[in-house]
Formats: sequence, structure tokens, C-alpha cells
Amino acid sequence: MQGKIGFEEHFNLPRFDGDLPPYVNPQAMIAIRRQLLDVADERLGEMDAAGIAYSLLSLTAPGIQAVTDPQEAVALARQANDALADIVAANPARYGGMAALPLQDPQAAIAELERCVTGLGFPGIMVNGFTDTPDGTGWYYDHERYLPFWERVESLGVPVYLHPRNPLPANEGIYEGHPELTGAVWEFTVETATHALRLFTSGLFDRFPDVKLVLGHLGETLPHFAWRIDHRLAAMGDRVKTTKPLRHYLQTNLYVTTSGNFHTPALYNVLTELGVEHVLFSSDYPYESMREAADWFDHADISAADRQLIGHHNARRLFPRLPQQIGNPAATARAR
Ligand code: ZN
Repeated sequence: MQGKIGFEEHFNLPRFDGDLPPYVNPQAMIAIRRQLLDVADERLGEMDAAGIAYSLLSLTAPGIQAVTDPQEAVALARQANDALADIVAANPARYGGMAALPLQDPQAAIAELERCVTGLGFPGIMVNGFTDTPDGTGWYYDHERYLPFWERVESLGVPVYLHPRNPLPANEGIYEGHPELTGAVWEFTVETATHALRLFTSGLFDRFPDVKLVLGHLGETLPHFAWRIDHRLAAMGDRVKTTKPLRHYLQTNLYVTTSGNFHTPALYNVLTELGVEHVLFSSDYPYESMREAADWFDHADISAADRQLIGHHNARRLFPRLPQQIGNPAATARAR
């Protein structure tokens, strides 16, 4: 399928290259670090080969969220977003930007959000999990200090992509002796699914019913487990803070991407639980291969109409600020 739009597509800036955790084996990390810094021929060639017309780029994890000093986080987020705006300006038919936000300072994060959306033209936000603080605790976004932030997110109408990061060191004990389970194998899923559940069960979406939350990897297991969570929440009595079952919020406020989860039975499950309009294509480049993502998606046993929705049209609906004209005309013409 030509004309696909991807929006879990990462880049990096030299300033953050040295801080990157060793997510995979050292040899593979060398290639990933190089590919993160490239926004020119190699990346565009991969996009053309995979039929990806347009990528919304995001600063790779943990990015701004791992900066412990709030003032530094504010300055770095501004630098990172300005650098991304330059990348987009140089190639507006192929790239858009996902804002990076200094949530260490909620008021400054709102100001940067407004600057990114109304000034730089970014159509969405990517946050890499909880935000670090000077005392070593992590701040999760269900806390009341973030209510003004969510209010602004809702009024601007921009989706928030909650991307994984490594858990706080204090929460890593369960992986002791099992480095093979860290990172994207399992640790990211537990961390991100739990963070998303905190948002859903906090009542955030009762206060701000138009907020759109995006999870990668076909929903970090939540669509698969929603029935059981609701089933057991029903026995929690006055511990429950929401007015509706979890599945209501998943079907209303949650959007999931195919990033890094190229498996058709799992895709069927999210289509059944959430509906086709809540499922969108993405690859998770360069941690995953765009070609593998596209080869699976282009041949998955779904209808042609669903493929067009998941690959292209749902992204246009989720990001109304996307430019009308996208893609490489030469690549599209060659594919015809
Ligand atoms: Zn990713």
C-alpha cells in the first residue's frame, strides 16, 4: 500500500545521543544510533521502499522526560522542538513533528505545547513515559498538577502519544537476574500499560472526554485484557473513581498503532475491541524495520477498505493539522 502515514517514527539529536540507554545488543545499537540521527537519504529511502508517504518524527526515548533539572528540561525541549521544526521545514511533504514537552514544569509544558502547535505547526505530542524529578521520583500524568495541561491538550485538539521508557530504578527489582526481559521485550509494556491505566482509572477522561491518547505496540496489551480489568474493577466498590467501565474509555479515547507488533491475530483483537477507526499504522523505526512493518501490514488478511483506514485515513482524522499534500510524487508514480 502506498501513501501510509507513520507516527511512531523516532529521530535523535547529537545532544541526546550519549544519553541513549543500551536498548539492544551493542552492535545493533550502533546502527540504531546512526539511523536515529539521519533524516535524509537513508530514512527517506526506507520510507519509499515501505510505501510510507509521511512520518511524524519524535525525539527518541527517554528524551526530555529523563532530564532531572526542570529549567534544563524547558530549555532542551525548546531546542529539540526548534531543531525538529527545521527538519520539517526542509522536507514538509515527508515529515511532520511530534512535540517534546518539559513536563517537569507543568506550566512551562503548556507554554511549549502552545508554541509547538500554534507556532511550529506540530499536529501531536509524544511523551516518553513518566517525567524525572530532581529527587529521583517519577511524575505520572494522572496527578492533579497536570490537570491544566490536559485541559489545554483537549482545547487544542492534539493527540498525546504515551511512549514507553525504562521504569524507575526502584521498580526494576522484579527483573533482577533477567536482563533479557528488560526494555521492549516486556519491561516497557508493563510500565506503559500501568501508566495508561492510571490515566484511565483516575477519571481523567470523565473530566476531559475529548482527549485522545495513543499507545503503540497494538495498545500495550490493554485491549486484550480490558474485559478482565472491568470484571474485577466491578468488585472494587468505592475504590473506583470513574463513572464508566474501562472499555468505554478505550473505545472512546484510546487509539493504538501497529508499531513493533506485526502480528495479525493481535491486530484482529484490537479491531474487535476498539473498532477499525481506532487502529493506525506505524513502524517504530529505527528500533523496528519499516520494510518489515509494511510487508506485514500490506499483506495482512484484512479488507482493502480497512487497510486504507489504518494506513492513511485514520491518521488524517486523528491529526487534522496534517498538510494536504504529502508524499514523494516520484515514488507514488513508480508504484502505479
Ligand atoms: Zn518507539
